[in-house]
Amino acid sequence: MTRRGSRTPTVGFVSLGCPKAASDAEQILTRLRAEGYEISGSHAGADLVVVNTCGFIDAAVEESLDAIAEALAENGKVIVTGCLGAKKDAAGNDVVRVAHPKVLAVTGPHALQEVMDAVHLHLPPLHDPFVDLVPAQGIRLTPDHYAYLKISEGCNHRCSFCIIPSLRGDLVSRPIGEVLREAEILADAGVRELLVISQDTSAYGVDVKYRTGFWGGRPVKTRLYELCDELGKLGLWVRLHYVYPYPSVDDLMPLMAEGKILPYLDVPFQHASQRILKLMKRPASAEKVLDRIAAWRKAVPELTIRSTFITGFPGETEAEFNELLDFLDEARLDRVGAFSYSPVDGASANKLPGALPESVREERKARLLRHQEDISTQRLERKIGRRITVLVDDIDEDGAVARSEGDAPDIDGLVYITDGHALEIGELAEVSVIDCDVHDLYATLAVATD
Ligand code: SF4
Repeated sequence: MTRRGSRTPTVGFVSLGCPKAASDAEQILTRLRAEGYEISGSHAGADLVVVNTCGFIDAAVEESLDAIAEALAENGKVIVTGCLGAKKDAAGNDVVRVAHPKVLAVTGPHALQEVMDAVHLHLPPLHDPFVDLVPAQGIRLTPDHYAYLKISEGCNHRCSFCIIPSLRGDLVSRPIGEVLREAEILADAGVRELLVISQDTSAYGVDVKYRTGFWGGRPVKTRLYELCDELGKLGLWVRLHYVYPYPSVDDLMPLMAEGKILPYLDVPFQHASQRILKLMKRPASAEKVLDRIAAWRKAVPELTIRSTFITGFPGETEAEFNELLDFLDEARLDRVGAFSYSPVDGASANKLPGALPESVREERKARLLRHQEDISTQRLERKIGRRITVLVDDIDEDGAVARSEGDAPDIDGLVYITDGHALEIGELAEVSVIDCDVHDLYATLAVATD
């Protein structure tokens, strides 16, 4: 490897995929900056390019392979990391290496050290680490006022439509002291909202048998309740994603009722038919979900529940799909996303009988989303006339764009504050809700007499 005189080594960076991939990217970017590398916005101006890939569905594989091709064409020196890096084809060969044999190195997800080793090999750092050039909270891809907090990696489940466990391995929980330290640093840096993510948030600590760790000199169990309890002391919005409806989730309700964590749960139910859930091999599929939702709402009337569903799973009958619609009528979820089933290379569900044509899968998805529209609207209408707290995400010529406690960034709705021009991004504001549509609320600044 030749040195480039005294010029600062520069790395181009492309990150694709889900929040978990973004979190991996943040860790790599943080380490690169800590070691004195510049990050370049263009491939051409960089000494090499790192591409953080996604391998979840076929469209994501295509997008990742295209991003690698573009980096090779414009720069020539490319290190690949992320989920697609761990993916093999039917013959057992690396998908990335088969498509792009000229890449310098390929790693799977969550491979900070391997990526750094490859960077060091092909582009050594110029000087000793410039640790003081990096903000304590590291480099983040999110705006300054919210941040993802990844609490574990991998998953112990084997949902038949998913290949994440084969890409990311079994559940590995991060030590609770390390997670809380990261949260504290983020809070000190001005972050107002933490989005707790993992593949299975309810399972936090299962792999280490809820081992007792230490935080602030005190023993704290590696378990979701204790994590939420401690996060609740930081004075931030704490939002939970990817929570499965296990009985242990009931224990979190008092923390929500006391305002320690947000009254919000992102629970990917995926279906309502017991037969389909069994075929999907979903965690907690035998739980009495409607009873559980009713109990949660009784304990926390303000609770917002978000979920996602898959339509057109292999063998799904019209009656089973209607069961799902009936479930939506009863569950009255606040936010619903839907995916039409898409066979993912390597997923065991591909071998199930009764594959449905794409037209049926798509038509059911559209029908499900239409069916949910009235329910979502009615849930939002309950807020009209009320005063709520929002977190400001953006200011534009029409006012401020914010989110309520019931809105996660990117996936839920927004609160448009028509007279919010003077607010600041990252500010918490009190507003009065005046109107809504299916997804969003419209509000004005609350006045003292409200
Ligand atoms: S819970 Fe199921 S869908 Fe989620 S990562 Fe684990 S195996 Fe995949």
